[in-house]
Parts: sequence; structure tokens; C-alpha cells
Amino acid sequence: MRDTKERISMNHGNGGIYMNKLITSLFLHFFENEQIREQADSAILRVNEGHLAYTTDSFVIDPLFFPGGNIGSLAVCGTLNDLAVSGAKPQYLSAGFIIEEGFKLAHLTRIVKSMAIEAEKAGVRIVTGDTKVVNAGKCDKLFINTSGIGLLEERHLGIGSGQKIKPGDKIIINGPPGEHGMAVMQARKLFAFKTNLKSDCANLYPLIRKILSASDHVHFMRDATRGGIATVLNEVARKCNTGIEIDEMQIPVNEEVKIMCEILGFDPLYIANEGKVIVIVDPDDAIEVVAAMKRTETGRDAAIIGEITSDHPGRVVLITRSGGKRIIDELIGDQLPRIC
Ligand code: MG
Repeated sequence: MRDTKERISMNHGNGGIYMNKLITSLFLHFFENEQIREQADSAILRVNEGHLAYTTDSFVIDPLFFPGGNIGSLAVCGTLNDLAVSGAKPQYLSAGFIIEEGFKLAHLTRIVKSMAIEAEKAGVRIVTGDTKVVNAGKCDKLFINTSGIGLLEERHLGIGSGQKIKPGDKIIINGPPGEHGMAVMQARKLFAFKTNLKSDCANLYPLIRKILSASDHVHFMRDATRGGIATVLNEVARKCNTGIEIDEMQIPVNEEVKIMCEILGFDPLYIANEGKVIVIVDPDDAIEVVAAMKRTETGRDAAIIGEITSDHPGRVVLITRSGGKRIIDELIGDQLPRIC
């Protein structure tokens, strides 16, 4: 496995001796836990009373490595975050790999290792998985699917659905939008200019645990991934048939994202994030929630950016720096494909 020239061959996916070696020396080695060690067709998981949150996501990001992460850390954090924003405590993950013949084993090792590190940090186990190899040219290097299971307390039911949202609720974000999308654009090396931008790819569970202990009136949470915060807010406005007003002056800004967006003609509100969450809370608890968020690593720049209104139902309106109003529409085309 140490040979840096070693590459994935069709034999690594055929169920025979090479595949077994890949599974034991790479996946089982890094994901080590009692369930995966069984190598059975299903991982058997003990559950207590309560509710299970269950989610799945596929990762096809290009390039595989980018400032602040890689497809592996993204595949773990992305699924952890979908559980966490539903109010659940992430417990178990699966990992399915579709690998193109010829892919460097050293690259796969780096990716699997960072998945193991993220899972370990989060206290979750990767308990089952799958490996398929396809002929050269039949997929682009590597795709990963992760599914996740989390435990949900009764009192946190409904946080993911938005059913509790009402006019007057405050809208909070944990930091500046657009870092993931712009870091990936940078990694694609399509432009001459250089930045120090890093993806915000992170496990949001520690932040979300603080939010849920700061308030019993968290009405909604969603991580703002593809389509950015504009997309999440439009989904809320449409689904709950309420209006939304956000204040441009209150939205945290990353200067490099701002400059890059200006040059490339993008709006940071529509750019993908991998470590940003929109939280909608009762107005009485908003200041306390922001204070709790600011005490965490991923919530340092948390801010109240707007509120739910009974005016203009279904619409998201931005109060601009100059005091004007602009409608933030839903995204039509995909500005940046294969961003996650
Ligand atoms: Mg999500």
C-alpha cells in the first residue's frame, strides 16, 4: 500500500483477493470499529428509545482536493451536518466508493484517512461500506456516497421541517457565506489570481449542540450547501408561505469571497457552503443563541441577519446597504456545478 505508483485496477473491485486486500488494509484499517470488523452484509446497531434521523448524500466534487478539505472530509461532514441540522446527534455512517480504474492508491488513502479523522473527531463510526471499480473513463476519478443515522430527542422533532416557523422569528447565520464555492473555484485554477481562501467544510454538530442547549425555541435549521443561503431562505419562504427580510449590512463578509465574487460576477448569497447553517429562532432567544454560537469555533462570526415577516409571503427581500430593497430570487441554473 506504500507504493505511491500503485493504482486502482479492475481487480480491486472484483470481489477477489485484491479487493479483500484493499478493504482490510485501507477501509477496515482506518475505519476500525466493532461493527465494520464483522464484515457482514449489514452492520447491526443497537438503538434505544426515541427517533432515528436517516440521511444520504453523494459527493462528486471536482477537484477531489481543495483548500480546507477533500472529497472525503466533505463526504463525512456533509452527512453529519444533515443529521445535526435535523436536531439529531450523529451516530453511524456508511461509505460507498465508486472508483475509476487507474486512480492512485495514495490519493485514495489520503481521502480515506481524512474521513476516518473527521469521523473520529465527531465521535461517529463508519460501520458499513461498499467499493466498486469502473473502467477508465466511466466515472471521473472517485465518487463517494455517505448515509448517516442519528438519534433525535422527542423535543427536537420538527426542526428540519420548518413547521414551527412564525412571523417575527429571527434568522441567524454562523459566519460569512460563499467560502466553500470560492475555494473550489480557486482549486480549479481557472484564474490567474491567488487567494488564501479555504473551504468552510466542517462538522457543525458541536455548534448545533450549543444552539439547542441555548434555546428550547429553535424553530428551524438547515445547512446552506448548494445554492447557498439564498436557496435555503427561498425554500423556507415558499414552504411556510411567509415573507423573509434580510439586511445586507448584518450579513458577515469574507473579504476575499467578496472580491472574487465581484470579479467573477457571482453573488455570495448563492454560493455553496459546507459549514454554514441558517437558524430560525424565537425572537426572545435570538441574542442568547448568537452569544452561544460565538463561543464555538464554527460560530465565531454568528449574526442575526433578518426575520420572518407576514408581508410578501413566499418572497425573500434583501435590504441593501443603501437602504433599498431587492428580491432574492430562487436560483435557476447551476452557477458552479460539481461543487460537492
Ligand atoms: Mg443539507
